[in-house]
Amino acid sequence: MDIVWITCGIAVGVFGAMVGSFLNVCIWRIPLEQSIVFPASHCPACSHAIRFYDNIPIISYLILKGKCRDCQERISPRYPFVEALTGLFAFLLFWKYGLSLQLLCSFLFTASLIVITFIDIDYQIIPDVISLPGIPLCFLAAVFVMEVPFWESLLGIVGGGGVLYLFAACYEWIKKEEGMGGGDIKLLAMLGAFWGWKSLLFILLISSCVGALVGIFMILRFGRDMKYALPFGPFLALGAVLYFFLGEVFQQILWPV
Ligand SMILES: [Zn+2]
Repeated sequence: MDIVWITCGIAVGVFGAMVGSFLNVCIWRIPLEQSIVFPASHCPACSHAIRFYDNIPIISYLILKGKCRDCQERISPRYPFVEALTGLFAFLLFWKYGLSLQLLCSFLFTASLIVITFIDIDYQIIPDVISLPGIPLCFLAAVFVMEVPFWESLLGIVGGGGVLYLFAACYEWIKKEEGMGGGDIKLLAMLGAFWGWKSLLFILLISSCVGALVGIFMILRFGRDMKYALPFGPFLALGAVLYFFLGEVFQQILWPV
């Protein structure tokens, strides 16, 4: 590892954390259908604009000890968490792809999944404004940048959307209630577009296993009459992001040539 590489990696990580700060704004405003660029960031409690020197990812939170400088209202630790998470993924993706178009596409893909994850946790919705344009954009990124064959990406869209649609339809038919939202269907179509149909088994396997474990934990912790339905989007997103790092190994196990 040489010094240039490490410096580059750290710079990419810091840039990622700054993007993470913007993702916090998206997570907060997209479900409220507010503009994500205007007005500038302000404290949700006292509406004071956030000074530029208080807007440094992670560090500002630590300096301010998690409180607004103006009204002393507690700032959710989720803000620095999202910043750190985005920075970490930027660094890991740099490690995998180097400074390249693949890094850019995979980072944008991951950033959109981070936004989807936290909106889904808060509101149990996956906003169409991300997932619907996400499908053709992921298709273009897959075919022209990520070196996924054209028809694999296309089958990923049809398969991803179709598989979950069938699941949802069966569930509704048997239980007479809606189990899986249309948002999950569009999200899996988007993931299938980016990774191609071969990834779908991995993504569904990871998301249902981790989802089941978390579900069991929640029931043990909060009791059976838990009113909160677990959103599925975050688990799908987790599967898709893990595919960056485990996808090749998984495919070699599945189709050893
Ligand atoms: Zn405040």
